[in-house]
Amino acid sequence: MNVIKSNIYNQLENIVGKKYISKTKELLDMYTKDWSFHAPSLADIIVWPKSAKEISMVLKIANKNKIPVIPWGGGSSLEGNPIPTKGGIVLDMIRMNKVLEIMDRDMQVKVQPGIIGDELNDQLKKYNLFFPAAPGSSAIATIGGMIANNAGGMNAVKYGVVGNSVLELEVVLADGRIIRLGSRSVKSVSGYDLKNLIIGSEGTLGVITTAVLKLSPLPKNKIAIMASFETVKDAVNATLDILKSDCEAAAIEFMDKTYIYYVNKAKITSFPEKPTIIIELHGGADVIAIYLDIIKKILKRNKNISYSEFISPSQLKLLWGYRKAVRPVLSKLLPNRGVLSAEVGVPISKVESFLKKAESLSEKHKLQTVMFGHIGDGNFHGWALYELNNNDSWRRVSMLNDELIKFAISVNGTTTGEHGIGIGKRKFLPVEHPTSLPIMKDIKNLFDPNNILNPGKIFID
Ligand SMILES: Cc1cc2nc3c(=O)[nH]c(=O)nc-3n(C[C@H](O)[C@H](O)[C@H](O)COP(=O)(O)OP(=O)(O)OC[C@H]3O[C@@H](n4cnc5c(N)ncnc54)[C@H](O)[C@@H]3O)c2cc1C
Repeated sequence: MNVIKSNIYNQLENIVGKKYISKTKELLDMYTKDWSFHAPSLADIIVWPKSAKEISMVLKIANKNKIPVIPWGGGSSLEGNPIPTKGGIVLDMIRMNKVLEIMDRDMQVKVQPGIIGDELNDQLKKYNLFFPAAPGSSAIATIGGMIANNAGGMNAVKYGVVGNSVLELEVVLADGRIIRLGSRSVKSVSGYDLKNLIIGSEGTLGVITTAVLKLSPLPKNKIAIMASFETVKDAVNATLDILKSDCEAAAIEFMDKTYIYYVNKAKITSFPEKPTIIIELHGGADVIAIYLDIIKKILKRNKNISYSEFISPSQLKLLWGYRKAVRPVLSKLLPNRGVLSAEVGVPISKVESFLKKAESLSEKHKLQTVMFGHIGDGNFHGWALYELNNNDSWRRVSMLNDELIKFAISVNGTTTGEHGIGIGKRKFLPVEHPTSLPIMKDIKNLFDPNNILNPGKIFID
C-alpha cells in the first residue's frame, strides 16, 4: 500500500533530517503489528521526530496530502491500536523520551511522551515518588501510549488509571496546531475538559507531545494476601466488603479455578484450585496492621478456605510471578491451542453473573476459558483456548468473545476497561453507545476532518 509520492518523502526528510526517516522494508516490518492477534499491515514511511514543532510540520504536510499518520509508542497494545492498517507515516516517539521537569514539592513530573514507564519510575525513586498508574506492561510501554490508551495498572483500585493522573497535555492537532490542555492545578473546572477527550483517544485526535503527571509517594511498606474460596460468590462478596471497609486496598485481583490449575502446573505449586483473590496493601506499618485485621475478619466472614501473606519484596515478587505465570506456559502446555484474549469491564456486583456467563458460554461452544482480572475495579480478562488451524474452532471462539462482550454491555459494563477499541472492539461501539456514537464521530470530524490521524481505529469507516 504505497500512498506516498517521493516528493513527500523529501519534504519530510527536510524536516527531521536524513537520519530520522526511513522507508526500508526491514524497518517498516518492525511497525506492522502490536502484541495483539490482529493482522499486520505495512506503513510507507517511518519518521522519528524530536519535537512538537517537527511533528506539527509533518502533520501539516500529511493533512494537505491526506496521508495517514500513526503515532507509535512501545507498540505493546492488545487491540491493534497502532497497526498502520491504511499505510502512511508512522511517527515513532522514541526520541522524545526525556523527563523535562520533576516538581517534587507538588508531586508532579513533566515528561515527553516517548519515555518508558519503568524508566520514569527509576528516575523518580530518588525523590521518593512514583507514577502509580503504570500498567503491567510498563517495562515496554511509553507514557504517550499509556495516555492515548488510558491504560490501567493493577493498583488502579487505590491510585486510579493513567488518565486520572494526567494534569496537563501539549498536543499537536491534525492541521499542525500545537495546543495546551488542562493545567498544573490538581482541580480545574475551567471550560470544556478537552484534555480528557485526548486521554483514551488512541492517537485519533492528536499527537501528545508533553504531559504533566500527578505522582504519589513511594509506599513505605507493601504486603499482599492470597485467599481462596469455595465459590465465586464468596470471593466477590469479600471483595465488595473490602472496598466498603475502612481498609484501602491498592490492588484486588481475581483468578478462577482454571487459572490456579495452570499456576500450579507452571510453578509446581499446590494452591487450592478454587476461586482466589490477591489483595495488596500499601502504607506505614501501623496502618497496614489495622488493614490486615479488617481484611482477616472480612475473609473469615466470607468463608475463605485458604490464607497466605507475602511480606518481603522477594515474597511479593514470587506472588506476582504466580499471577503472571500462566500466559507464557499456555502455548508450551497446549501447543496446538491458540489463545483469544478477551477484556471487558463490569460493575463489581455483576462479576459473579459475568463469570457464570463465561462458564455457560465455555460449555455451549465447547471451549476452555481461563478467567482472571482486576476484580477491585471490575475489569476482567479471559482467555478462550481454541484449536489452531481449525476454522470451526476459531468461529466458536469469536462467537464466545462477542457474546461475552455483549453480556458485559447488557449489565451496564463496558466493551473495554483498559485495552481500548483499536480494531478488535470497533463493532461493539454502536452496541455500547447507540446514542452518543454520532457525537463521537462529530468530535473526530472536528479534530481531524481529513481522517489522517490513526484512521480505521475506534470507528469502522
Ligand atoms: C505483556 C503486556 C501486559 C499489558 N498489561 C496491561 C495492563 O496491565 N493494563 C493496560 O491497560 N494495558 C496493558 N497492556 C496493553 C498496552 O501495554 C497498553 O495499552 C500501553 O499503554 C500501550 O502503550 P505503548 O507505548 O506500547 O503504545 P502503543 O501500543 O505504541 O500505542 C497505543 C496507542 O496510542 C497511540 N499513541 C502512542 N503514542 C502516542 C502519542 N504520543 N500521542 C498520541 N497517540 C499516541 C497509538 O497510535 C496507539 O493507538 C499490556 C500489554 C502487554 C503486551
